[in-house]
Amino acid sequence: MTTVVKLQDVSYTYPSDEVVKPAVSHVSYSVEQGEWIAIVGHNGSGKSTMAKLINGLLFPSEGVVELFGQPLNEDTLWESRSQLGMVFQNPDNQFVGATVQDDVAFALENNGIVYEDMVERVHSALQQVQMADFLNQEPHHLSGGQKQRVAIAGAIAMRPKLLILDEATSMLDPQGRREVIQTLQMLRESSEVTVLSITHDLEEAMLADRVIVMNGGEKFLEGRPEEVFANREQITKLGLDLPFAANVANLLRARGVDVPATIMSEKELVE
Ligand code: ADP
Repeated sequence: MTTVVKLQDVSYTYPSDEVVKPAVSHVSYSVEQGEWIAIVGHNGSGKSTMAKLINGLLFPSEGVVELFGQPLNEDTLWESRSQLGMVFQNPDNQFVGATVQDDVAFALENNGIVYEDMVERVHSALQQVQMADFLNQEPHHLSGGQKQRVAIAGAIAMRPKLLILDEATSMLDPQGRREVIQTLQMLRESSEVTVLSITHDLEEAMLADRVIVMNGGEKFLEGRPEEVFANREQITKLGLDLPFAANVANLLRARGVDVPATIMSEKELVE
């Protein structure tokens, strides 16, 4: 198996005059080629800092981040970055092209991909996100969910070795969120892409092969989504907000898992 990402005892503390707790503390895990990993946790648990340590916006204070088999440092940064696809939170900040197809083609053009290959890649990426009918649309006419689907197409058209989704559904309305989750689900089934998804969205996390729950900068739980979210005691101990617990219970029930009804009780959740 080829390891795409490897964190070895990685810690990061933001520079500050005061003595502060590390934002990421002694975290280790690997992502193998073709795997889909979701990183979840409440605000301040270290998820964004971890994304920045993987895309090279930050370098660890301690430990090593390896991407595609080599340590990520200033010498390897640009080569590694060229193999990363990123989709960010805000659908409005990701457009560079005047039309959907120009937008998806932008990075391909900049990377000198020959015209015929570029056209093929743009069409195939837009088909994968069900946006092929919108080729000539101007991005600002699209809904939030459609914009994120185009952003995903732009990222996968580059055929990255790793796709990082950084809260890709968190700014969308419920309809947009559903659309993007369905798109990700289809991508999951139809491609071999390796994905690291940082998300608040448990429905999205349920698509993953493995979920890593962060808490206070540390890796708190790791396992298959069913295993992790069925671990009711530890999940509630985290103090994750009520909709989190309720959503988990609902999603598990929908999958036929026997979750005690009490997890939905307002009283128990408050306690
Ligand atoms: P999450 O993405 O899970 O919300 P973050 O990685 O943003 O978590 O934050 C982890 C911790 O690092 C928090 O305590 C946060 O206050 C702190 N932090 C994040 N960004 C900075 C920064 N630029 N400077 C100082 N501290 C920061």
